[in-house]
Amino acid sequence: MHEIQTDVLVAGGGPCGLMLANELGRRGVRTLLVDMKPGTAFNPQANATQARTMEHFRRLGFAHEVRAQGLPADHPTDIAYFTRFTGWELARLSLPTAAEAVRKVRDLSGAWSAAELPHRVSQKFVEAILRRHAEGYATNDIRYGWKLLEFEENGDEVSAVVCPLPNPPPEGKRAGVRVRAKYLVGADGPRSMVRGALGIGWGGATGARRAFMGGQMFAVYLRAPGFHDVFPHARAWMYVTVNAQRRAFMASVDGQSEFAFHAALQEGEDAEHWTEADARRVFAQALGREIPVEILSFGTWTAGHSLVAQSFRRGRVFIAGDAAHLFTPTGGLGYNTAVEDAVNLGWKLANAVRGPEAPALLDSYEIERRPLAVRNTSYARHFADSVGLFPARPVLENDGLAGEAARRAAAQHLNAHVRMEFNIPGVTFGGRYDRSPLIVGEGGTPPADEPNNYVPTASPGGRPPHAWLDDGRSLFDTFHREWTLLALGPQPPSTTDFTEAAQALGLDLRVVHHPAPALRALYEAPLALIRPDQVVAWRGRLARGAERILRKANGFSW
Ligand SMILES: Cc1cc2nc3c(=O)[nH]c(=O)nc-3n(C[C@H](O)[C@H](O)[C@H](O)COP(=O)(O)OP(=O)(O)OC[C@H]3O[C@@H](n4cnc5c(N)ncnc54)[C@H](O)[C@@H]3O)c2cc1C
Repeated sequence: MHEIQTDVLVAGGGPCGLMLANELGRRGVRTLLVDMKPGTAFNPQANATQARTMEHFRRLGFAHEVRAQGLPADHPTDIAYFTRFTGWELARLSLPTAAEAVRKVRDLSGAWSAAELPHRVSQKFVEAILRRHAEGYATNDIRYGWKLLEFEENGDEVSAVVCPLPNPPPEGKRAGVRVRAKYLVGADGPRSMVRGALGIGWGGATGARRAFMGGQMFAVYLRAPGFHDVFPHARAWMYVTVNAQRRAFMASVDGQSEFAFHAALQEGEDAEHWTEADARRVFAQALGREIPVEILSFGTWTAGHSLVAQSFRRGRVFIAGDAAHLFTPTGGLGYNTAVEDAVNLGWKLANAVRGPEAPALLDSYEIERRPLAVRNTSYARHFADSVGLFPARPVLENDGLAGEAARRAAAQHLNAHVRMEFNIPGVTFGGRYDRSPLIVGEGGTPPADEPNNYVPTASPGGRPPHAWLDDGRSLFDTFHREWTLLALGPQPPSTTDFTEAAQALGLDLRVVHHPAPALRALYEAPLALIRPDQVVAWRGRLARGAERILRKANGFSW
């Protein structure tokens, strides 16, 4: 059997696996990524890239490419609710266009002080960009149309078999290519073969029943060039219907004619055998009339999961993304959480591959990411309850006083709901790793974790506070690609202890001095140590104990 030796084998080329290949590729770690699909996603899938994910894309140098994808730059990104698309409008949250977002972000402060704002773009476009950049690294070998068949851990390596499709070996026959890797990452999605083979079960809840976002959903990727001609309201990005016949949501994919439409099934319906005719029928129900529609694809999926794997690691094998957590898509958190898993794991795997041994480093992946997955799935469930349990009664579509009263009540609920689900700086920026062995904590209490509010804090364990610099750059743009020691204020203390300790430990650390007193005040300290994944590892007034701090932040034992 032909054999490949690599450092990291990644199973799965969705957003998680591709982001990991980027993180590993930029660090020169030999990576083989296999995905059994012929290429990146054809279906739109996730629709929203959160601001934190955009900040990570900016760190990797391609946020602007992602922002150029999806809706035209001047297309609204509103979320709006209707009885039917051609019926009454019930509620709306207006959000900036992509062009406005780039300008506006420079004026925002407090909770929304960020290098990037969210971007409404279908996952299929993001995956293509992630793939192109991943393929640009000489140490990456990205293979679509290849499947991971089996693996086992042997001492200090993982031995796996991958094979090209569509010709998998006959049952019972060992064929394909042997891969010997230092680590395997299962970024292989909700039905993860890697998680299954490791025997890792799910925790959390599943099977939630709601009129909307709880139960089977019918997804249709469609082209409706006449939609905007018959749609009587202001354009939006996300269109949601609330009526007693069928709840649905629809995201604009290209701002013109392509849409990702998702309809909730009613009690007793089973869409497994639904056809194109059914796709047209349910779309017409949501629209409130028939128009010509081209069906590009359709299928079912299940809403109502809030599942987190009981463990994210066994020895040299890790799971990440949907393989490790399954969301109901309210809040748009599944793909974004998957990307952050990769960001967290990437630099740690790179360090582990290069050595020396740092026992707490790889352990910290599960310790840091699993609580975040529990947190984020809970937020998504809460959003799903708020919108999905709202009763859509027939009177909502009645002319007359009773109908008007019902629509006013719906408007009140949905206007509050949409701000709760879609204005989420706290969910986006507020995730913290306080219990991590890599964080040099201060023992204080960080600001409360609230979905709709975020209080910037340099308290170790969270995202560094963001600021725009006088020269127009984002503070984050000045961070080094690996470790950054921020020296803040006009006269910061000596940083020599850190630079010497970093050199002795073989760490790539750069001191970045910003003299502005405002930054010193924002960080409430003159020194702050920023990890490669842009998390505050430590802050302080003096560089004393630098070696101990760096050792802990990198998972070394004493
Ligand atoms: C219809 C739909 C709508 C969605 N809407 C949203 C949304 O609005 N917001 C949101 O945040 N999320 C949404 N999601 C979820 C989002 O798409 C996922 O959270 C995201 O794709 C997770 O990324 P991932 O890389 O972890 O997994 P995936 O994207 O599932 O990628 C896993 C990859 O692994 C490959 N694979 C599996 N087994 C093997 C194997 N043995 N060998 C090789 N390759 C393998 C698969 O081919 C696949 O490409 C939606 C999902 C669906 C299906």
